[in-house]
Parts: sequence; C-alpha cells; structure tokens
Amino acid sequence: MTEYPEKSWSFSKDKLLTKCPRAYYYARFLMWGGWDKNAPERVRKAYRLTKLTTIEQFLGSMIHDYIANNITALKTQDIHTALNYIGKEFNKAVKSSYKMKKEWEQNPKNYIMFYSIYYKNRNLFEGNLGKDIKEKTKLLLQNYYNSRTLKDIQSGIRIIEIDRENNFTSFFVNNYKIYSIVDFMYEKNGNTYIVDWKTGKRSKDDEFQLKLYALYAYKNYNIDLNNVYLINEYLYEGDFEERKYTKEELLEVENYIKERIEIMEYYLKDKEKNIPKEEKTFPARPSKYNCKWCNFKEICPEYNENFISQI
Ligand code: SF4
Repeated sequence: MTEYPEKSWSFSKDKLLTKCPRAYYYARFLMWGGWDKNAPERVRKAYRLTKLTTIEQFLGSMIHDYIANNITALKTQDIHTALNYIGKEFNKAVKSSYKMKKEWEQNPKNYIMFYSIYYKNRNLFEGNLGKDIKEKTKLLLQNYYNSRTLKDIQSGIRIIEIDRENNFTSFFVNNYKIYSIVDFMYEKNGNTYIVDWKTGKRSKDDEFQLKLYALYAYKNYNIDLNNVYLINEYLYEGDFEERKYTKEELLEVENYIKERIEIMEYYLKDKEKNIPKEEKTFPARPSKYNCKWCNFKEICPEYNENFISQI
C-alpha cells in the first residue's frame, strides 16, 4: 500500500469537493489505510463510513450486476428468478445492517451496512418500503428487457468492455488517473456504442458523464468519433437518449478537468506525492442540505443534529 492515495480524479469526488471540502478530505485522505486493523480508530472509522450505502445505491448496483451477467452469459429473460434473487440479496443486506454491525466494523468490505440503519433515520419495516422496492425492481428489469440496447445485443454485437468485478476504467490527464467507469461498450456494424444504465431519475450530470465516457473511448481506443454513440438507458422511465460528440467538445471536457485538478491541488502540500494539507484547511460547509445524507457526520466536529431536526 502506498502511504498516500494515488493521484486521481473522478466526477463524483469533484462534486463532493465543491459541496463540502471537509467531507472530501474524509473520503479521500483521512480514510486512507483505514482497512488496516492497526490504523488509528478515527481513520478506521472514516474508512468504514465510506462503505455505507443507501437503499437506492444498493438496488442500482444489484441491477447493474444482473445486467452485466445477463449480457455476458446470454441468459434468457426470467423476471421471476431475477426478482427472487434480488429480493433475497435485499433481505440479506437488511439482516446484515441490523444484526451484524460488529462484523461490519471489523470487515466493512464484506458486509452491507445501510446508511439509514446506521444513522437510524428511517425504519425499513414501516410503510410500504419492501413492496415499493419490489415494484421498482420489477419496472427496472422489464424496461431492461424492452430496452433498445438489449434488442441490439440480441441481433449480434461484439462486446468491447463491460463493468464486472471492479475493472475500473480510466484514462490520464496531466499525470492524474481519471476514473470514468463505463457500464457497457460494444461494436456493431463498424459503430461503437457506450451505454450507461440509469436506475434513478434523469439528472443534469448525465450528459457530462457521457462526455467523460466519450473522452475515455477517444483516448484509450483508436476510434473515429463520427462512429461513436453514447447512450443513456433510463430504466426507471423506460426511455433512452443517444448522443454524439465532436473532438472540440471533448477537448473542452479535458480542459475543464485540468481546471478542476488545479483546484484540487490547492489542498495539497505535496503535489507530486499527493499529500494533503491539514484537515482544518479543508473548509466544512455545514447546512441542512449538505449534512443530511453525509456519510461522515459521526466524525465531523462541524455537524450539528439541529440542522436535521429543523428540516
Ligand atoms: S457533516 Fe456536514 S459539514 Fe461535516 S463533512 Fe459532512 S457535509 Fe461537511
């Protein structure tokens, strides 16, 4: 293990830096090495807190895994088996979150801990949550079975990349590793398609993410951008959007990343080794909006429970 994290940039970490630099410090630097049983307790805790997951994130990752397996193993569309499997995994995750806190604390990578159970802000047995999750899962799977991408796959394609077993895809800008995790990339009739499976609602960030994937394809493969199609498959809405980008548009994205790297470097005392300045240099931006779903409120001295109760 290196003493400091690798020099890298991702859109999600960049958003965290804009929202609350202190949360970014916890997620990026304080947690580093917290998987080691001999690390200081606050470091261990910061690492654990990065592993908290929300119900929506958990469902999203289950659907992504299911789709990746379904495509690579060319499995048939068996919605009952899929619903059963995902339902069982959900039950296991709920049980793990409620009953296995000690095990999770020792080994947070191997157990699931739901944010809402850890911070006790939602009772999962109240209301119709179980039924709602099942309905949503069914809708997402049905829309996947009816998706334009699956129809394309069924008529014959060549898989270039598929997001399985944490093979995080990346490219480089100014010596920084830029993470841009492509869900699915394939070739058909001389064209390249990059697909992002979306399990939530549309967001203003969707387009920027597509541009990052296009930049990844442009930098890592010798591909003519005229033949590259970027697709958002909105599984919740049963709809898709297809885009193409020019080289000039992608250079704008690259320049934007360079500007953001400069901002990120302001917080480093050693840019070569990626050593951060002290914790207090990263300003905390407490607010109802920022703190409500922050993973680090347990270790953040700026967090105040009153923010949440005032909502
Ligand atoms: S609890 Fe609030 S102030 Fe503290 S790190 Fe999280 S978002 Fe920032």
